[in-house]
Amino acid sequence: MSQSTAPGNDLPDPQHPSHHRTVLLRGGDVHSPADPFATAMVVERGHVAWVGSEGAADAFADGVDEVVDLAGALVTPAFTDAHVHTTATGLALTGLDLTGARSLADALVLVREHAAAHPQDTVLLGHGWDAARWPGGRPPTRAELDEATGGRPLYLSRIDVHSAVVTTALLDLVPGVTDRTGYRPDAPLTGDAHHGVRAAALAAVTPRQRTQAQRAALAHAASLGIGSVHECAGPEISDEDDFTGLLRLAAEEPGPRVVGYWADQDVRRARELGAAGAAGDLFVDGALGSHTACLHEPYADAHGAGTGTAYLDAAAVAAHVVACTEMGLQAGFHAIGDAAVASVVDGIRAAAEKVG
Ligand SMILES: [Zn+2]
Repeated sequence: MSQSTAPGNDLPDPQHPSHHRTVLLRGGDVHSPADPFATAMVVERGHVAWVGSEGAADAFADGVDEVVDLAGALVTPAFTDAHVHTTATGLALTGLDLTGARSLADALVLVREHAAAHPQDTVLLGHGWDAARWPGGRPPTRAELDEATGGRPLYLSRIDVHSAVVTTALLDLVPGVTDRTGYRPDAPLTGDAHHGVRAAALAAVTPRQRTQAQRAALAHAASLGIGSVHECAGPEISDEDDFTGLLRLAAEEPGPRVVGYWADQDVRRARELGAAGAAGDLFVDGALGSHTACLHEPYADAHGAGTGTAYLDAAAVAAHVVACTEMGLQAGFHAIGDAAVASVVDGIRAAAEKVG
């Protein structure tokens, strides 16, 4: 059920009393292919032992340790989230949320409080300001943010994530940032300058901050009834320490099961890192919004974009599937455009001719 304390955990905690008890849950809507009209279920030693109707549940009621009235609640198997970037999700959850700030002064108070509450974080991260909704309509200046953080690195993305305001201490981490496009001395950073400070901010996240972010993301998943997440990591997306740290955390602490994918053509490395597959965000092409998804026909809405960008062709897809199959790992790809999908299909067909 969705409120399980240890979703995805195969080994019942022997200390936990519920694992020695037989519990009847009734009066709900129990989603099960075994009985589409089930309203009740029996849990025995942490496992579902029976699902069925109220009438049949009466027969169990006297023989169980506990009866729980579901009061019409929906009971389902735990959900699986098949594509997650755990750390990024967690950083958004643990960072400063400015979407509720009603004025510039309000936002600066929140920045000050967040900085004080996170003395050990090397970089402070926040998101969601929208100066257009504030009286006066201006975002915080760098001097105001320097003052509110006591001179610490701070990155605050606007609600649309395409621009950000930062402190002097964060700018100092990006040599040459003042020469980049999108840099203006006292306005939100856009373009190249924005990408530079964003990369510097993420690189400054400490291992402790990262672990807290991962824990927050997994706890949030569990609160939504998600019992298993597929982490789509890779050398171009995250880093090895981030990936192995997450797998270790998931193994040591109760919470959703984490299935790790490492998007690397170096299949051996993926296995060494403990990945279930050299898959996930292994890019055959890019994204439609950036006109880099690979299409059969040229983009009609962007001059010069051509048919997009192909990072892997059918031969490379075939080689990867063969290498994964021989190593007993799952292969998988990121493919958005129709031409990219065709490359994957052709590549898998070619691989099947070799390895069956
Ligand atoms: Zn992804």
